[in-house]
Amino acid sequence: MGFEYHASRKFPLDALRRAGGPVFRAVCKSCGAKREIDFVQTPPPDVVLRKFTQAGWTLGKAARCPACVGGRAAAGNPQPFDRGEMKDMPETEAPAAPARAGKIHRQTILALEDYYDEQAKAFRPGRSDKSIADEIDTSEAFVRKIREEYFGPLAQPSQLAAISARIDKAANDLTALRADYAALCKKNGWV
Ligand SMILES: [Zn+2]
Repeated sequence: MGFEYHASRKFPLDALRRAGGPVFRAVCKSCGAKREIDFVQTPPPDVVLRKFTQAGWTLGKAARCPACVGGRAAAGNPQPFDRGEMKDMPETEAPAAPARAGKIHRQTILALEDYYDEQAKAFRPGRSDKSIADEIDTSEAFVRKIREEYFGPLAQPSQLAAISARIDKAANDLTALRADYAALCKKNGWV
């Protein structure tokens, strides 16, 4: 028996009402594997997303199990991973092995949960697609793709947001400098 789950985001999940509380069930679109996670109360959408992500699932337009997240990433590689051919290439240029691809996918979602403000459609101060990419050791383009798929577009372009943050910081610095100036004048009797 399903129930209506009012969420700001739509997840590819079945919402079930059980005696112990709501249960969310994901069915892998690729292999049909099922995973149920139960809750005591109806959780906010980000908690639902986090629980499935921590379990290794991805919930984009369709749910995928941990095995298929890795398999899909491998299938997307134009050339199979071959250590022999790759040995001369820089570490960062080598395609990620499936298990690593799934891990990066999950880490990116978890980082976005922490660093991206969905209401404001903006990163928290000092955070960006690039800062997350650097932290996780993946590409900025990958983080942007995941953000847009799961969380949506930024309210303003990131270049503009970066400058806005600098303007805010400059304004704060100016206020602090004026206060220091006034305090020093007052202390010494300077006009
Ligand atoms: Zn699967």
